[in-house]
Amino acid sequence: DGRVERIASSIRAIPNFPKPGILFQDITTLLLDPQAFRDTTDLFVERYKDKDITVVAGVEARGFIFGPPIALAIGAKFVPIRKPKKLPGEVISEEYSLEYGTDKIEMHVGAVQPNDRVLIVDDLIATGGTLCAAAKLIERVGAKVVECACVIELPELKLTHATMRISCMNKGQMN
Ligand code: 5GP
Repeated sequence: DGRVERIASSIRAIPNFPKPGILFQDITTLLLDPQAFRDTTDLFVERYKDKDITVVAGVEARGFIFGPPIALAIGAKFVPIRKPKKLPGEVISEEYSLEYGTDKIEMHVGAVQPNDRVLIVDDLIATGGTLCAAAKLIERVGAKVVECACVIELPELKLTHATMRISCMNKGQMN
């Protein structure tokens, strides 16, 4: 699919950001190419339009860029999953490990219902820790995570959807 090449070449890699040794994948240049942005959304919509998805859950911050156009196109609700202390209503939260320390994400109570079928969207998967925590939040309210969708998968990690699900399950058992 020629669209994938255009999308890939529209993403800029910036060395040593946010700290030395990290090659940061910058999707803001993808957003400067309307055709690449459109193609990105279209590819997800083509994959998810017939999967009875009722909620697209976007992970702060870049899941807020790619999630809403997908949600609108497939006729699903959009639910933001946010960093701590950003959501004004009652929240449930999930803590997850970083290389050094922990982080937390939150979701409004009632935003996702037990009968919802959820697609989780973020821009990039590295260790999968963020998406696993998001999946746990969704599963804790009794809803089904149909799939996690990312624009970029860091190739050196060789993660697949299957391995990510396994690592989610393992983390779930450990906690
Ligand atoms: P993980 O939890 O899978 O280790 O990291 C993924 C999270 O970190 C995502 O929310 C993603 O937005 C952010 N992230 C980590 N590295 C990068 C990067 O190089 N580029 C972008 N755009 N996001 C990154």
